[in-house]
Amino acid sequence: MHTQSSKVVFKAYNTNQNLLLPPSLEEMIAENHPVRVVNQVIDHLDLEPLLNRYKGGGCSSYHPRLMLKVLIYGYLTNLYSSRKIAQALHENIHFMWLSGMSYPEHNTINRFRSERLKGILKEIFSQVVLLLVDLGHVSLKQACLDGTKIEANANRYTFVWGQSIKNNKEKIKKQLKELWSYAELVAKEEMENNEPEDFEQIDAEKVRQTIAHIDQALSNKQVDKKVKKKLNYARKNWPEKLDRYDQQQKQMGDRNSMSKTDPDATFMRMKEDHIGNSQLKPAYNWQITTQNQYILGYTIHQTPADTTTLITHMESLEQTLGQMPEDLIADAGYGSEENYQFLEENEVEAFVKYNYFHKEQSEKWKQDPHRIENLYYNQQQDCYYCPMGQPMTFVQDKTITSVNGYKQKLRLYQAQRCDGCPMRGACHKSKGNRIIEVNPKLLRYKQQARERLNSEKGLKYRSQRPADVEAVFGITKYNRNFRRFLLRGEEKVEIEAGLISLAHNLLKMAG
Ligand code: SF4
Repeated sequence: MHTQSSKVVFKAYNTNQNLLLPPSLEEMIAENHPVRVVNQVIDHLDLEPLLNRYKGGGCSSYHPRLMLKVLIYGYLTNLYSSRKIAQALHENIHFMWLSGMSYPEHNTINRFRSERLKGILKEIFSQVVLLLVDLGHVSLKQACLDGTKIEANANRYTFVWGQSIKNNKEKIKKQLKELWSYAELVAKEEMENNEPEDFEQIDAEKVRQTIAHIDQALSNKQVDKKVKKKLNYARKNWPEKLDRYDQQQKQMGDRNSMSKTDPDATFMRMKEDHIGNSQLKPAYNWQITTQNQYILGYTIHQTPADTTTLITHMESLEQTLGQMPEDLIADAGYGSEENYQFLEENEVEAFVKYNYFHKEQSEKWKQDPHRIENLYYNQQQDCYYCPMGQPMTFVQDKTITSVNGYKQKLRLYQAQRCDGCPMRGACHKSKGNRIIEVNPKLLRYKQQARERLNSEKGLKYRSQRPADVEAVFGITKYNRNFRRFLLRGEEKVEIEAGLISLAHNLLKMAG
C-alpha cells in the first residue's frame, strides 16, 4: 500500500545540463574495448599501396587509415551498409572516437570500399595475419580449409541457364533452316545464286543477312501467312536475342548458370534450414583457412564444388603469407587426386579426407570381397585376384580428363572367366568378364591420407576441424548476421569477404 511517508526519489535528470568541461571521448571508451584493437592494429599497418592509389590535386580526401578503421569497425559491429556506417559516425561514440569526429558521407565510404580497396585488401589482411603470427596467436604450421556459400546481391529469379541458351540457339538455327528451305522451294530461281548456307555457327549478323536474302527472294512471291509472320518475328527479334545470348555465354564462361543482376554470381544449392531443405540461389563460394578460429586466408570462387577451389586458395596463401601451411586439414569435398598431388608437390602434409573415408571404416565395407580395395594385388605379377581366386590381368590403360583438365591415368584389369561363377550376381553386372578400373596414384594418395587421418595427430586434427573452421562460418552467419553480400561482382565481393575476415580476426584478438 502506498503511504504518505514513502516518497519516490528520482536521480537528477536534465538533458540541457551544461558541463563545465565536455567529457573526452577517449575517457568514455573502455580500456579493452574492441574499437581500441581496431585502432591500434590498423595504425601499425603499412598502407603504402593504398596511399599510392590517391592522386594529388583536387579536394582533400579523408585519410585511408581513418576510412579503413571505420569500415572494419562497421563490419565488426554488424553494420554493413555504408548508410548505416555513416549514420553511426554521428551517433555512436566508438565510431566518433575512431574517426576523430570526421564524418565521411555514405557514398564516400562506399567508394572507398568498392574502388580504393580493389586488389589491395588481401595484402592488408595478410599483414594482420603476420602480426597475429608475431604475437603468437597463430602459426603457419597447420590450417583447416572449408567453404560456405554466401548469397549474392541478386534475387533468385534473375537466373540465366547455360543449357537454355544452347537450346534457344538450336531452336533459332532450326527455324532459320526451315525458312531458308521454304524460300528455296517457293523462289527457286531467285535463290539459285545464293551460296548453300551452313547454319552451324550463327550470330546476329549472319541471321540478319540470311533473312535479308530470304526477304529479297520472296519479295514478289505469294508467301504463306504463317511464314510471313515468322519472318517478321525473326527479323525483329532474333539478331537482338543472339547478341544477348553471345554476351551472356561470354560472361558465364565455364559455368552453367549466372544471375542477370550480378553476372559473376552462379546459382548454387544452398542449405536453408536444419532439416536439410535447400534452394538454388545466386551465390559465391567463400573459402577460408583457419587456425584456432583465426582466419589465415580467404578466397572467393564462382564454382559451388569445393574440390576445384583448393589449389587457387593455397596459391593465394603462399602469395600473401609467403608460405603454405605445413599441414592442411580438410573434409572429403577436397580429396581429389589433383589436390593430393598439388599438396604433395608443395610439401604440404594432407590431412584431407576422401569420398567413402568413413564408410570404408565400417565392417560391412571391409568384409565386402568384391570391392577393389579388398582385392588382393600381386605386385610382381601385376595382377589382382578376384573373390574366386581368379587372376585379373592387366588389359589396357585409360586416361580420363576432369572438368578442369586434370588427367587421371587408370589401369584396367580383367578376370579370365566369369561364366558359370557362383558369385556372378553379387560380383558385377556387366555382360562379359569383370573389368576393374584401378587408379594406382589415387590409391597411393588415399592410403597415405588414411594413415595420416588415423594417426594420433590426425585424430586430433579431425576433432579440431569442426570446432575451428566451421565455427568461424557459424559466427559469421549467425552472430554477425552476414548472410548476403552487399556489393556485386567478384572483385567487390572479395573485398567484402576480406572486410568480414579482418573484422572477425580483430574481434577475436580483442576477445
Ligand atoms: S564373377 Fe568373375 S570376377 Fe567375380 S568372382 Fe566370379 S570369376 Fe571372379
